[in-house]
This record gives sequence, structure tokens and C-alpha cells, in this order.
Amino acid sequence: MALNVLLLGPQGAGKGTQAKRISAEYDIPHIASGEILRAEMEAGTELGRRVRDVYDRGDLVSDDLMIELIRTRLAQPDTEAGFILDGFPRTTVQAEALDEMFGDIGRSFSVVFALQIPDEVAFERLRKRAEIEGRADDTDEAIRRRLENYHRETEPLIEYYRARGNLVPIHGDRTENEVLAEIQSALEQVPA
Ligand code: AMP
Repeated sequence: MALNVLLLGPQGAGKGTQAKRISAEYDIPHIASGEILRAEMEAGTELGRRVRDVYDRGDLVSDDLMIELIRTRLAQPDTEAGFILDGFPRTTVQAEALDEMFGDIGRSFSVVFALQIPDEVAFERLRKRAEIEGRADDTDEAIRRRLENYHRETEPLIEYYRARGNLVPIHGDRTENEVLAEIQSALEQVPA
């Protein structure tokens, strides 16, 4: 059976780091909605130009646009054995659209991880990342916006998936290896 994994959590919780490691370990593609947008912006596409202001401010790109980007990505053949989704869905509208897509292609999440960390820790981690990577949306103001948007739009999805019975909460304020070990032990319980 395919291993379809979702990582929920605020920016700075370690989603990208963990997703990369799970992707390598289980040989499933890491699908990161933010990376897809950054690639479009770097390539200077029309779509990239359209989203740049919203992205730089730390606001959410429109649901319709994100849903289409993810629909296209999930239709690629490399997702057949599963995938790890990072950064999408971020709103209830996106989660409902994803359920519909899954219905059409006969899929569901094997497991949904909610990586949880206090805002102060997220803020500090993002500030450090700003120094290292220089991401355009890692300014103090944009970081604040993104955490606000997370609490308002994305955090309710924890309940959304808990109600479906496949949510695993994870304390993200620990070392990368500790978090990974907990994720792996949950993945081992997923029926093969
Ligand atoms: P990330 O790399 O996941 O931190 O995302 C960076 C930025 O890309 C976000 O602050 C949003 O502007 C945009 N973005 C990424 N994923 C989504 C999504 N699912 N819905 C709306 N905007 C998104």
C-alpha cells in the first residue's frame, strides 16, 4: 500500500527537515508547496510573478492556485508508492479540496503528523534561517504574519484530521534525530 504522509505544523517546526529525511528513508517524493512556489519565482514564470508580493509579505497564496498546483503534482507517476506532503493543505478549503482529489484517485493519508512547537521557538528558528538562507519571507514582519496565519488558518486542520482518526501529535522542540525517531516509530505501525 502507498505511504501517503502529511506533515502539519508552523514554519520553523522542522517540517522541511523531517520531510527530507522521511523522503530519503522511505523513497517517496517530498512535495513542499513553498518549494514549488519558490521554483516558479526563481524561474521567473508568470505564476511566480503573480505570487511574489503575497509570498514576500508572509501571506497565503490563493486556495484555487495552490489546489491546482498540488493537483498537478500529485498526478505525477512518482507519487504512486506514496508521498510526503509539506505545507499543503494550509486552510480548510484546501483540505476539503484534497479530500475530493483523494476520493477521485482512491487515496487517503496513511498518517498525519502535527509537529508542535511554541511560537517563540518557531520565531527564533526562522530568524536563524533568515541569516543562513536569506529567504525573502524571513523578515521579522513576515515571520509574524506567517505564524498568525498558521494559527488562524492552518491550526484548525489538526482537529480536522484528528476527527478522521489518523493524527499523530509530535513535540517538535527537540533534536532532529529525536523527532525523526518518533516519526519513524509511528510510520512502522502503518499497515503495509
Ligand atoms: P513554506 O515554504 O511552506 O514556509 O511556504 C512559504 C510561503 O509560500 C507561505 O508563507 C505562503 O506565502 C506560500 N504557501 C506555501 N504553501 C501554501 C499553501 N498551501 N497555501 C497558501 N500559501 C502557501
